[in-house]
Amino acid sequence: MNIVMDIKENINALKISLPQYLKLVLVTKTQPDEKILEAYNAGQKIFGENKVQELITKASRLPKDIEWHFIGHLQSNKVKYIAPFVSMIHSVDSLKLLQIINKEALRNNRIVDCLFQMYIAQEETKFGLTLDEIVTIITSSELKELKNIRMKGLMGMASFTENKEQVRSELRFLADTFKKLKEKYYHDDDNFKELSMGMSDDYTIAIEEGSTIARIGTLIFGERM
Ligand SMILES: *Cc1c(COP(=O)(O)O)cnc(C)c1O
Repeated sequence: MNIVMDIKENINALKISLPQYLKLVLVTKTQPDEKILEAYNAGQKIFGENKVQELITKASRLPKDIEWHFIGHLQSNKVKYIAPFVSMIHSVDSLKLLQIINKEALRNNRIVDCLFQMYIAQEETKFGLTLDEIVTIITSSELKELKNIRMKGLMGMASFTENKEQVRSELRFLADTFKKLKEKYYHDDDNFKELSMGMSDDYTIAIEEGSTIARIGTLIFGERM
């Protein structure tokens, strides 16, 4: 399905292969409006971007019923630009960032869904929390005061490697961590239910390991320029 770059066909083919419960975030970074609109007209309404500037310019031009997810590293001083409309922030990597998201969400009279981004890859990547850091945030008194954010679960990215067993073990670790956190801290909270994992190269493994949200770009749009 990667050979013919018909966006509508690619989306339809992908969706048929996905379980019903899975939420597809179509990653539109670097894609022009025309291509995003092709996906939109094929029925896809949830899109993901990893840069604040790109997200706000696209959101201003494209249809208003699009659900925008932010999936990249988020600097505190840029939260205010996306807080008026962003649906979910997948990449929370500090309590300070959560406090700022809360403040800006409150200012916009909104509640913003958030995921803790967990560091699971063996390779060096800069962002993401360790399990200890997540637990420290979850058990802090500060978190309980934040009424305009909703913690929905975890996000993670496996190593960029051909070694599928390594990818699987990293995604399984994320899924296991999610289950433990759910049992211990969120068993009474139905909101905490999302596991955002799986990209073009590893979404089938991610689904087998329990993903509820996949973030996919290349498979639909082809290689980014
Ligand atoms: C780019 C990106 C994706 C999508 O990657 P593809 O390989 O194009 O599917 C998913 N998640 C994040 C955080 C990304 O930056």
